[in-house]
Amino acid sequence: MTMVNAYSKADAAKLDARTRSMIARRDRALGPAYRLFYERPLEFVRGEGVFLYDQSGDAYLDAYNNVASVGHCHPRIVAAINEQAARLNTHTRYIHESVLDYAERLLAKLGEPLSHVMFTCTGSEANDIALRIAQTYTGGEGVVVTQNAYHGTTQAVAALSPSLGEFVTIGEQVRLVPPPRDANDGGRAFAASVRAAFDDLAASGVRPSALLVDTIFSSDGVFTDPPGFLTPAVDAAHAAGAMFIADEVQPGFARMGDEFWGYRRHGLAPDLVTMGKPMGNGHPIAAVAARADVLEPFGRQCRYFNTFGGNPVSCAAGMAVLDVIEDEALQANAMRTGALLGAALNNLRRRFPVLAEVRGAGLFYGVDVAAPDGDGAVLAARIVNALRERRVLISATGLRGDVLKIRPPLVFSPSNVDQFATTLEGVLTSL
Ligand code: PMP
Repeated sequence: MTMVNAYSKADAAKLDARTRSMIARRDRALGPAYRLFYERPLEFVRGEGVFLYDQSGDAYLDAYNNVASVGHCHPRIVAAINEQAARLNTHTRYIHESVLDYAERLLAKLGEPLSHVMFTCTGSEANDIALRIAQTYTGGEGVVVTQNAYHGTTQAVAALSPSLGEFVTIGEQVRLVPPPRDANDGGRAFAASVRAAFDDLAASGVRPSALLVDTIFSSDGVFTDPPGFLTPAVDAAHAAGAMFIADEVQPGFARMGDEFWGYRRHGLAPDLVTMGKPMGNGHPIAAVAARADVLEPFGRQCRYFNTFGGNPVSCAAGMAVLDVIEDEALQANAMRTGALLGAALNNLRRRFPVLAEVRGAGLFYGVDVAAPDGDGAVLAARIVNALRERRVLISATGLRGDVLKIRPPLVFSPSNVDQFATTLEGVLTSL
């Protein structure tokens, strides 16, 4: 993924001796492909709720991490993992009731006609298997994704992830479409691009298999409104004979506030849904859900086993996440506190012209940064780093990296919004 606010060696002089030596160890052991956030990278040793703590015990307000979505180290998730790990952990080649309980509960959250769920460990694997299922069902290989999409790390889905940069070759079977930046036309322009992309594939002799879309367009820059704008594009994909795969890795599990899933905000009925990240609150569990008829040809011809995917400990974590979302009314909180966050961001936008546009839903916001005489991405990185110096964590996203990405755990409270907005105001004033 393009990382605009990553640490670079040029920043080494700004670091204390311990951080410098840890980074050197990291480079030696983990090699050159990894990146670190921030000019001055952070080392955390503990998390609780919406706060992460560094070695000296300083608390950082987490307005970025959606994986620990019900809060860092939530005691109920920790207990569920502990309990199941102490009793039994095997795999999906044995019958296990809690795996079935969880699968049924998840399917109830998705609703008909999505009637089967298959477990994986990562969102990448979920997208990879969803593609294989779509390709088997359609007999085609052509895929349409957005211009700066990210769908994961396997060979197949990295080839559908242009946000990884020029290193990734976009194959002959793939077409990129610009994200729905201005969907006030009800999504008609986006649908026209999708239609043209499938037409272009057909003209090259490539049969369609899928339109694969992150329903909040996180890596493209966060495009949320008006709800429903995705419908014409999905209709266009279906008319071309392609499946619609809703990548819910980012918006899923109540983050959108008004709906549990991103695709629901758009009133869509996907053929396949992939999910991951917040599903186990940090425990690696992910999944693909499918309509029965869509999965049938794949299931008939190919067996599926994923050693760790859907093991009883993972399912216990997943079940506890659903319990906590319900018992702590976190979807309603995403709606209510998300509205406060949106209002606070819009207040700042009216006072500081560098904030050009605020977009978002629930607890996920993208804010365009405009630099009158310069580069919005450079300014966005300055804001991200300045917030980090004031112990508030966010990141940047979008094709050019000029969009602030604000995506806190779902337990974010009104007072967290105040702290966030006051700190951002201080940063903007100091620019
Ligand atoms: N899809 C989307 C939209 C994502 O944001 C990500 C992860 N950033 C993935 C898929 C891949 O998930 P994972 O890292 O669990 O493989």
